[in-house]
Amino acid sequence: MMKSLLRSRLLWLAVGAVVLLVVGYAAFVYVRFQRFRPRITRIGEFMTSPETYPDIVIHGGKRCGDAPFIIPTTGYLGVGWNDGAWPLYQHTGLDIFSPDGADNVTPIYAVYDGYLTREEHWRSAVVIRHPDFELLPEVTAGQEFWTYYTHMASVDGSESFIDAAFPRGTREVFVEQGTLLGYQGSWSGSLDRLDMSRHLHLSLPLTDADGSFLNETEIRNTLDPIPFLGLEQNEDGIYVCLAGYSED
Ligand SMILES: [Zn+2]
Repeated sequence: MMKSLLRSRLLWLAVGAVVLLVVGYAAFVYVRFQRFRPRITRIGEFMTSPETYPDIVIHGGKRCGDAPFIIPTTGYLGVGWNDGAWPLYQHTGLDIFSPDGADNVTPIYAVYDGYLTREEHWRSAVVIRHPDFELLPEVTAGQEFWTYYTHMASVDGSESFIDAAFPRGTREVFVEQGTLLGYQGSWSGSLDRLDMSRHLHLSLPLTDADGSFLNETEIRNTLDPIPFLGLEQNEDGIYVCLAGYSED
């Protein structure tokens, strides 16, 4: 009698623990979703009629306030760093969606001086190493990082939009801040997914112990680019340049 009572109590405890975990995780996802919902829900509206939303466009090649980086490309910043919810999905960079309505039109610029590499098998991406970056020590914690730019290819991946100055196999070529890297495209990285909206994905991978860049698809290997760009959220939770663009 005592034994079966104990067993049923344990069972109820276990059921209770599982219910708590499920409810807790659902609440966590809900709270996270509220944080990035205002950005993500506007992507479709923006892509349909970008001219209707001039106030949420950030401007490529310009500097917001006294930020160390310039804005890499023109468009709507619809997905931020760490948007998503662990462990389902966490976005490792920023997605900036072109207002121009066609591929190979919206330029992409180097955000800061550094050394550019394009691996032999890269059709749509380049990466730039930024040694000697001493600004924002509170964000970088003294770590060396890179800037990674991707989706610079046609929707079927057949045509690369990377500037001819950076052919496949380019290694450690010095580029100044503002150097044209290529143009926004709609290549998702896979022929299984041809419905991706045209954008730039920019991320800041950290450096591995061997001096190469770490895998930028894992969030723990990346920094949030926002503080480097000087952008802030407006009252709707959209990242824009509230400080105003500087004239340099
Ligand atoms: Zn992205």
